[in-house]
Amino acid sequence: MRRFFSKVISLIYPPKCIFCKQLLEHDASIYVCDSCYEKLPFLKMEIMSVFTDAGNNHCDGVVSVFEYTGVVKESLIRFKFYNEPSYYKTYARVIDDRVSKLLDMNDYQLVMSVPLHKDREFSRGYNQAYLISKELSRTIKLKECSGAIVRSRQTQTQSLLDKQRRSQNVMGAFEVTKPAKVAGKSILLVDDIFTTGATLEECSRVLKAAGAAKVTAVVVATGRRYLI
Ligand SMILES: [Zn+2]
Repeated sequence: MRRFFSKVISLIYPPKCIFCKQLLEHDASIYVCDSCYEKLPFLKMEIMSVFTDAGNNHCDGVVSVFEYTGVVKESLIRFKFYNEPSYYKTYARVIDDRVSKLLDMNDYQLVMSVPLHKDREFSRGYNQAYLISKELSRTIKLKECSGAIVRSRQTQTQSLLDKQRRSQNVMGAFEVTKPAKVAGKSILLVDDIFTTGATLEECSRVLKAAGAAKVTAVVVATGRRYLI
């Protein structure tokens, strides 16, 4: 019955490519047309570290699918700021594909997203990272655990700040409210974009302080074009 309804819905609202909006077959597994797929800026590098002092990071590594450029950048902006939450499904699929190739999934127990402050989530209507995390947990078959962490302090938009200010801006912004859920666990931490890594690093710091064994960040795209 559910399949029937989803088929009817896809006939009324046929899926469109999230990059160029071309109509796709109703049963398309990812919403990317062949022509866009050929041109997507898949990131060549594999697992990145957040900062240069790799051994001292709280975040154990970052896996990104794309470079943050061109049509990927435009689609992520629409996803986050122009009310296109449905893109989460395609982003989760491409992340799943990437992490399944690069990481041993037997090492991980949880998937969770970088939290938004509740006021920002309310005004946006959704947490874009949580939508990806929820879908990823379903396809990759790991438990979703975003409810264990909150952003307790409202922060400025990171994109407006330089690197040093970004670290200060997010310092102390997160709180693990259910430490028992993360203690001893290895976690895939989902966000949409990785730029300076200040947010992912701070989130990883509090998760580790709450007892998490390992935190690997997974993102749709990164502005980093080089290995550090
Ligand atoms: Zn397309």
